[in-house]
Amino acid sequence: MTDLHRLSIRELSEGLKTAQFSSRELTEHYLKRIAHIDPKVKSYVTVTAEQALAEADAADAALKSGNAHALAGIPLAHKDIFCTQGIKTTAGSKMLDNFISPYDATVVAKAKAAGLVTLGKVNMDEFAMGSTSENSYVGATSNPWALDHVPGGSSGGSAAAVAADLAPIATGTDTGGSIRQPASFCGLTGLKPTYGRVSRFGMIAYASSLDQGGPMARSAEDCAYLMNVIAGHDAKDSTSINKEVDDYVANLNGTTVKGLRIGIPKQYFNVAGLDADVKARVEESLKKLEEMGAILVEIDLNMTEAYVPTYYLIAPAEASSNLSRFDGVRYGYRCENPVDLMDLYKRSRSEGFGAEVQRRILIGTYALSAGYYDAYYVKAQKVRRLIQQDFLKAFENVDVIAAPSAPTTAYKIGANLSPTEMYLGDIYTLAVNLAGLPAINAPVGFDKDSLPVGLQLIGSYWSESQLLSIVHQYQQNTDWHTKRAAIAEENA
Ligand code: GLN
Repeated sequence: MTDLHRLSIRELSEGLKTAQFSSRELTEHYLKRIAHIDPKVKSYVTVTAEQALAEADAADAALKSGNAHALAGIPLAHKDIFCTQGIKTTAGSKMLDNFISPYDATVVAKAKAAGLVTLGKVNMDEFAMGSTSENSYVGATSNPWALDHVPGGSSGGSAAAVAADLAPIATGTDTGGSIRQPASFCGLTGLKPTYGRVSRFGMIAYASSLDQGGPMARSAEDCAYLMNVIAGHDAKDSTSINKEVDDYVANLNGTTVKGLRIGIPKQYFNVAGLDADVKARVEESLKKLEEMGAILVEIDLNMTEAYVPTYYLIAPAEASSNLSRFDGVRYGYRCENPVDLMDLYKRSRSEGFGAEVQRRILIGTYALSAGYYDAYYVKAQKVRRLIQQDFLKAFENVDVIAAPSAPTTAYKIGANLSPTEMYLGDIYTLAVNLAGLPAINAPVGFDKDSLPVGLQLIGSYWSESQLLSIVHQYQQNTDWHTKRAAIAEENA
């Protein structure tokens, strides 16, 4: 079969179970596509061909024996922020260019236990700081829809790999939008789960009170399959919740769109910088949901203006603390010929970290320093609580909240936005992390340059099933999620 990469996760699962093709054939098919097409997209940092084929053979044996997991034998790509035993984990940083983890992240271990086949590790902004994936020390990844555009970030490699059919599904992480925004830029479905739903163990920390891993795929159905594997309590992550996990696949039709109350925040649709095409496509998608029976309710989210400053204080503060472990002593990059310990620390960090990471370490350290702590960090935490309360109040009256995932479509590579311009592009995603809520991006059409536009639906706590179900039903009634970039149509 030459078009195995066109099959959904459900179709792949059925095909493997009924022996229409083997995991080895499927894995070889993807490896061949990666070899031929990825030089143009540059989504992979590391391709683990040998290990993938061994895992595929093991999956084929399990499939033959008849007691394989639903996803056994299906390939996936991991964001290079998830630790993988024996395989380099760089987090997009020169600092970790030589880092091989002695253990697997829980997400990776769970994927392995289910029999998923790891194709490799995909590119990202350094330590997940960024919105374009250009902040990676290995260089930029291209958007499969237009190779001179970015795929978004920080999980840009994950999005580009799936959008170019170089992996059927991928893991991503979202601290302030890094699953939803690249999914939006690449025409994919991506779910940021409730904080605590997916284990952060072995996920290299950026801002620990905001970080959350999740699935990136073509459809809500595909995301549901991966959520079934990666969600759940983990004793190794004290912030993961000990709460029953839904069967996300079984629940795909569990929510009725008829009568669903969708909140439309007034403030969100008047943001300066909201692109006219993005606005139009999002409004059309909401019209469609209305036709399907949803009730659109205008709501207020009065804290909107506080999102960007609050996040860009708290996230760098946590990052400055988390990244203090990279000092050239125990692991990671070490400068040459240090004259003394201070020189070793200073030069290892100056040479090992890129500009954006250094900027955030400086901001975060400043905000946490004695004398400024109360004025900045404590204040930001108070505002964070107000942002959360704004959402809780809104959810008294609506089931979900709709927004664009990003104010624009994908930027051009090298557009060189100033840090503040770049941060303002995160306006629609940051508050979800500050409040710890789940949210999903669904593709809803294209702008005048044929670049994808995404709709974001924000749910209340632990409503992942509901979000996946709403998007699944939208996708049963529309075909945006089936559209493929020209490069994905190429055969290897
Ligand atoms: N773009 C945001 C940032 O740069 C969000 C990144 C993320 O979610 N990891 O911090």
